[in-house]
Amino acid sequence: MTDRRRMHEGNGTMARKDFVFGVDLDGVVADFIGGMKPIAAEWLGVPEQALTDDVSYGFKEWRLGGERGYENLHRFALRERRLFEVLPVVDGAGVALRRLSRRGVRIRVITHRLYIPWFHRQAVMQTVEWLERHGIPYWDLCFMAAKSSVDADVYVEDAPQNVEMLRAVGKKVIVMRNSTNKHLAGPAAETWAEIETWVLREWRGGGRVGV
Ligand SMILES: [Mg+2]
Repeated sequence: MTDRRRMHEGNGTMARKDFVFGVDLDGVVADFIGGMKPIAAEWLGVPEQALTDDVSYGFKEWRLGGERGYENLHRFALRERRLFEVLPVVDGAGVALRRLSRRGVRIRVITHRLYIPWFHRQAVMQTVEWLERHGIPYWDLCFMAAKSSVDADVYVEDAPQNVEMLRAVGKKVIVMRNSTNKHLAGPAAETWAEIETWVLREWRGGGRVGV
């Protein structure tokens, strides 16, 4: 029997030992909107209350100014306010990931955080510091734009484009619901408790696509 097929007893059910859970960070484990909002308010010179939480992908509701507005804010946030080190953790994410990891699920963090040229060192270092400080367990850490190039049995994602790309190639994805992805079909979750339940169910079912 190959490693890929090896099974073991987990809580009374058969579950694969090498089951990989692909985990997006921003908007899923890290509260990106909550962390970016005070920095955006400072950048724009407006009170935080003036910025809606009901944003779409790219934050155009915050009127960041032109095509490069978001990129300029992002660069300021990353370089001057250490954005990836100060983002709040989404409620329940840390404890759910620790529980899943303890049970034997392999956590593979898959994040697209290297999209500002020449700020990769800060992006990677801030990310690693943040993961350690918040006790987020992981075996693998992938900085990838094309998330479907990273293999996993199941994924959690919030960005509409990534969910659609993963599903288009037959991957099983649970959507972390937020204002940017209301239009996407389920499975979807509002909380980490729901994500944890779904992952455990997929794991015990073998995690096979289409099952
Ligand atoms: Mg995301």
